[in-house]
Amino acid sequence: MDRYDVVVIGAGFAGLTAARELREAGKDVLVLEARDRIGGSTWYQPEGFDGFGLEMGGTWIVPQQTHVWAEVQRYDVPIKDSELPGRMTWSDHGKVPDTLLPVPPQEYEQLEHAVRALIEAASRFDPLRPLSEQDVADLDVPIREWAENVGLTGNAKELMMSWFCGCANASEDTGSALDILRWCSSMDNSLWGMVQASVLGFTFVNGTASLARAIQSDGGAELRLSSPVREVEADDGGVTVTYDGGVARADRVLMTTPVGIWQDIEFSPALPADKLAISRENHAGQGQKVWALARNVPEDISGFGWGTSFDYVGAMESTERGVVLVCFAPEHDRVDASDLADVQRAVREFAPDAEVVDARSHDWVHDEFSKGTWATFAAGQFAKYELCVGRPEGRVNFGGSHTARRWRAFIDGAIESGKRSAAEILAAEK
Ligand SMILES: Cc1cc2nc3c(=O)[nH]c(=O)nc-3n(C[C@H](O)[C@H](O)[C@H](O)COP(=O)(O)OP(=O)(O)OC[C@H]3O[C@@H](n4cnc5c(N)ncnc54)[C@H](O)[C@@H]3O)c2cc1C
Repeated sequence: MDRYDVVVIGAGFAGLTAARELREAGKDVLVLEARDRIGGSTWYQPEGFDGFGLEMGGTWIVPQQTHVWAEVQRYDVPIKDSELPGRMTWSDHGKVPDTLLPVPPQEYEQLEHAVRALIEAASRFDPLRPLSEQDVADLDVPIREWAENVGLTGNAKELMMSWFCGCANASEDTGSALDILRWCSSMDNSLWGMVQASVLGFTFVNGTASLARAIQSDGGAELRLSSPVREVEADDGGVTVTYDGGVARADRVLMTTPVGIWQDIEFSPALPADKLAISRENHAGQGQKVWALARNVPEDISGFGWGTSFDYVGAMESTERGVVLVCFAPEHDRVDASDLADVQRAVREFAPDAEVVDARSHDWVHDEFSKGTWATFAAGQFAKYELCVGRPEGRVNFGGSHTARRWRAFIDGAIESGKRSAAEILAAEK
């Protein structure tokens, strides 16, 4: 049986970063990845639409995400800033108003109140410290409940809820408002900062895969693809990991799979009750990201909608065949991405003359190795699980973007967690 210092389970940004850090500390590391590629919840498809590469998963980063930013600089990976759209498009239940703001003039005060409520709530906590240890349990409620509690009404309420759902990729009745207020807090309580973090960051010129490959090849850990792990058995002398294709033994194991996957792996000793419970409940990020290629849409469309199938539709590029649109929906079954007519129906809620000629999406929710998109907590999960998800269990350590602090559920959070968990493993050996 092959013997290592550490077996890392999962070759997303968390696993790749941890493997590199452990290798730099002189450890013998094996990375086991279920898929036939690295990158996990990021997946760049360079052929895309007419040569415009498509990110099926994680895409945007901002300078305030200091962990990923440092990696981009370390490996000199090219990135580019998003272009600021000349105007915004709003869709109110499929009708596109031509008003200055998303609310009628008599509701301007409501809009102002909504912005103030957002900034006031985000200012109440420090995103660098565990949120469950701060006095903000009243914010760990469903997005709708928070909007009602702070007295939002009319279109201002609808817009704010829809924007939160867009950030959460979760519905207003499941996603925790606190997990989205954290975005604003992490952007120094700036509304504009939150807009940048949600739809206007930087993208990777050669795809997120360019950074994943750079980290992997620098680390140089042994990597086995198409090797889903089935069993993790710890004893006094080490841990035995059984995967499709083999068995490996190590002093320690680092788990970096999404939480919903833990329940599918046989752990011995068994996972504690709290970890098993969140794995079964799963997180609330259960929506859709759909790429559409469409004619007869404005080349700079950037549309937020409420009462619509997609909560966001934005132009990324123009090709000879049409405008490349990135679209998000907060629930996985809002739009049938395999049916051009259905994608067109949903896009027309923002651009009534749109003609969709192509569409692509990956169903992360029903993907057995992800079971969701990004790891937004459901309401109430901060109190129950925020600390438990990253807590080591004997010889098994836990990383992954869901265990991060400031930018949990982002690429940055995955890298933060990879560094943290590698440091925990090294410290445990002393
Ligand atoms: C649609 C979508 C859009 C997103 N947009 C953004 C964005 O714009 N910006 C941003 O920063 N973040 C975004 N994210 C989130 C970001 O991609 C993730 O937070 C981050 O990539 C997670 O990295 P990770 O290493 O923690 O987990 P993952 O990338 O999920 O890696 C875990 C790995 O474990 C593997 N695995 C699972 N089960 C097993 C098993 N049994 N055995 C072995 N391996 C296993 C998986 O295949 C996977 O490769 C998005 C995610 C999605 C899905």
